[in-house]
Amino acid sequence: QDVLLQVKNLKKYYPIQKGMFSKAKAFVKAVDDVSFDIKRGETMGLVGESGCGKTTIGKTILRLTDKTDGAVLFNGTEIHELDKKSLRDIRSKVQIIFQDPYSSLSPRMPVGEIIGEAVREKNLVPKEEFDDYITQIMLDCGLQVYHKDRYPHEFSGGQRQRICIARALALNPEFIVCDEPVSALDVSIQAQIINLLKDLQNKYKLTYLFISHDLSVVEHISDTVGVMYLGNLVEYAPKEKIFKNPLHPYTQALFSAIPIPDPDAKRERIILEGSIPSPANPPSGCKFHTRCRHAMEICSQVNPPLVFIEPEHKVACHLYTGEK
Ligand code: SF4
Repeated sequence: QDVLLQVKNLKKYYPIQKGMFSKAKAFVKAVDDVSFDIKRGETMGLVGESGCGKTTIGKTILRLTDKTDGAVLFNGTEIHELDKKSLRDIRSKVQIIFQDPYSSLSPRMPVGEIIGEAVREKNLVPKEEFDDYITQIMLDCGLQVYHKDRYPHEFSGGQRQRICIARALALNPEFIVCDEPVSALDVSIQAQIINLLKDLQNKYKLTYLFISHDLSVVEHISDTVGVMYLGNLVEYAPKEKIFKNPLHPYTQALFSAIPIPDPDAKRERIILEGSIPSPANPPSGCKFHTRCRHAMEICSQVNPPLVFIEPEHKVACHLYTGEK
């Protein structure tokens, strides 16, 4: 299975003013040296608390924001080095679905127009096939033909997300960044949308980066999972491995909060002390050391690199490298 998307040593820093009267420049390291691959046809779940950099990664992959350093390779092509025309061509191959479907839908356009607008602009299908093409996409997304003439406000949140998915799908993408696509929906609707995304993945051979803070959802849809903390990827492994045996203390704490369906099963709930530090002023060394119950002397001095601890399982933690 070949790799479709490669993120290599990606950095995204935002300049900030140090203090009101200071001229010195400081940086928020929203994404700090992150690397991972996503294989064609697979889903990588990216999890972590808000402010950890996962959405910035999604936006940098799509070049909705510029990178500071590193590379984003789509099918071997560096997205950030493309000229405007080539970027436009690749944009239909790489799509995004946002958390709030309503804000990304034009209220004055009927749904058929919303879904077909970019298809028409890019001449993706011959004129005589356009209607059938849009109808098929809508049906595949669980929408009905009569929905074409209706407006976004006439739909529920779940249906609006189906419209957004149909709009992305109509451009015949290979890769979709799903940025918290079900977080704004009722729990009962979430499963329907997740199942829809899975069905479409099989039918259209899609590859996903699925950004979410909801681990149950990530467990359901992902093949591999990456865990982020304050701009760093701290653990990365196939889903089965990371859910069965989370190794990084932060991952262990996050995963300990997942409800277990079996009432007799026991799992220690690890409560994280304090809140996530400010990304503008992160702790030295391992950025998690201020909240880690295993922290050692070295942890406040050296940021551990992300390395293989087992086959296919990478962790960034001194506990596993023998450093004290
Ligand atoms: Fe905790 Fe140290 Fe591992 Fe960081 S490196 S997670 S502080 S044990």
